[in-house]
Amino acid sequence: PVEPELEALQHADVAGLLPSPGAESDKYRRGVVGIAAGSARYPGAAVLAVAGALRGGAGAVRYVGPADAAVISRFPEALVSDRGPHKAGRVQAWVTGPGAGDDAATVAEVLAEDVPVLLDADGLRLADRDAVRARTAPTLMTPHAGEAAALLGVQRAEVEGARLSAVRELAARYDATVLLKGSTTLVADPGGGAVRVNATGTAWLATAGSGDVLSGLAGSLLASGLPAKDAGSAAAYLHGLAGRYAADGAPAGAHDIAAAIPAAWRDVR
Ligand code: AMP
Ligand code: MG
Repeated sequence: PVEPELEALQHADVAGLLPSPGAESDKYRRGVVGIAAGSARYPGAAVLAVAGALRGGAGAVRYVGPADAAVISRFPEALVSDRGPHKAGRVQAWVTGPGAGDDAATVAEVLAEDVPVLLDADGLRLADRDAVRARTAPTLMTPHAGEAAALLGVQRAEVEGARLSAVRELAARYDATVLLKGSTTLVADPGGGAVRVNATGTAWLATAGSGDVLSGLAGSLLASGLPAKDAGSAAAYLHGLAGRYAADGAPAGAHDIAAAIPAAWRDVR
C-alpha cells in the first residue's frame, strides 16, 4: 500500500493527545517547560510565549532571561530567574528564540540541553545547524514561510509555492521535526512519513505575537511528554481554534489568543 503524503489532523486525534493529570499527579510529573526567550528590545515575545505555555498543560513554567520582570508582573505563577538555562533547575522541555534578538549564546546553551527543544523566530536564524543535528533529544522548529526560506536559502515565494517539499527538506536538513506556519500548518518528521496538516486557523491569527503564543503552547505539550510531531500538531490545532474564539468576527491581539486556549481545549476534550 502507498502511504498517504498528507494526514489531516482530526478533532478526535487531538482529544487523544491532550495530557490529563492522573489523580496522583504533581507539578513535576506534569512537566516543567522552560522559556529562554525575549530580550531588552523584545520583552513582549517572552511574555506571550509564557502566556501560551501556561495554558499548555505543563505543571510549571520556568522563564529565564532579561524579560523576567515583565514576565513576573504579568504572570505571578511563572518561576523566573536571571541565570542561564544550564542553571535553571529541572526543565522537561525548552522553548527558545522568540524575541531573542541576537542572543546566540542562550540559543546554543538551550540546544546543548538533553531534553526536547522548540526553536522559533530569531532562534531559527541563530541556531547552528550542526548543533541541531547533533542533538539526541527531539527538536521542533516552527518557522513561517519567510523564516523557512531564509533557512533554505531561497525566496519566500518559492517556499509558498511548494510548502510540502519545503517542510520535508528542512526536516531532513536539520534532522528535526519542522512545523511550517501559514494559512494551514504542516508538520513533518525528519524520518519521512506522512506530513500532518492543520487547518483550524483563521487569518485573524496573522497578528504580531501570535507565533510566540504557539511556541509556548507547543513547548508545554512537549514538556508533558508528547512526541514533537504530536506536540506541534496538537498545538497548531488548539491555537487555530483559540484564534477563532478570540477573534469571533473581530480582530484580537495575541494575548487574547492565549486567553482563549482553555476554551479551545475544553472544546476538543
Ligand atoms: P508568526 O508569523 O510567527 O507570528 O505566526 C503566525 C501564526 O498565525 C502561525 O500559527 C500561523 O499559522 C498563523 N497564521 C498566519 N496567517 C494565517 C492565515 N492567513 N490563516 C490562518 N492562520 C494564519
Ligand atoms: Mg514568529
